[in-house]
Amino acid sequence: MTRPPGAGPFVADLAGGRPEGTHVLRRWAADRLGGLGEDHLRAVQLVLTELVVNAHVHGGGGRSVRLRRRDPCVVRVEVEDNAVFRSGTRQRAGGRGLLLVSAVARRWGISPAPDGGKRVWAEVDCATSPGQPCASRA
Ligand SMILES: [Zn+2]
Repeated sequence: MTRPPGAGPFVADLAGGRPEGTHVLRRWAADRLGGLGEDHLRAVQLVLTELVVNAHVHGGGGRSVRLRRRDPCVVRVEVEDNAVFRSGTRQRAGGRGLLLVSAVARRWGISPAPDGGKRVWAEVDCATSPGQPCASRA
């Protein structure tokens, strides 16, 4: 099975990182998602920022961020936090930020993290950013 170059997963340790550091994460994502169109990248960065802030405000602090790139040009963003996963918590898991995520992402959800805590994930594809084609689709 062949994977596109730079498919990831790329992992960043948050260690309770503060939302003020999200500009660093946005640059980190841009460096790893080469060839992504500007609009698609911006959508991914928006989702990444909102998930990290959400983990900080509602999730007892963020643990890690994971980026994964799939064919055709879908980027999966996962943020693990320290909150205990309970089924049915989707609506109560966050505030305005997750509404924004649900508007931008093709799909999103919450699942238990392997080592406790929970993982909020979202998949962002090109459909939400039709302005400029990504290199992998051009
Ligand atoms: Zn794309």
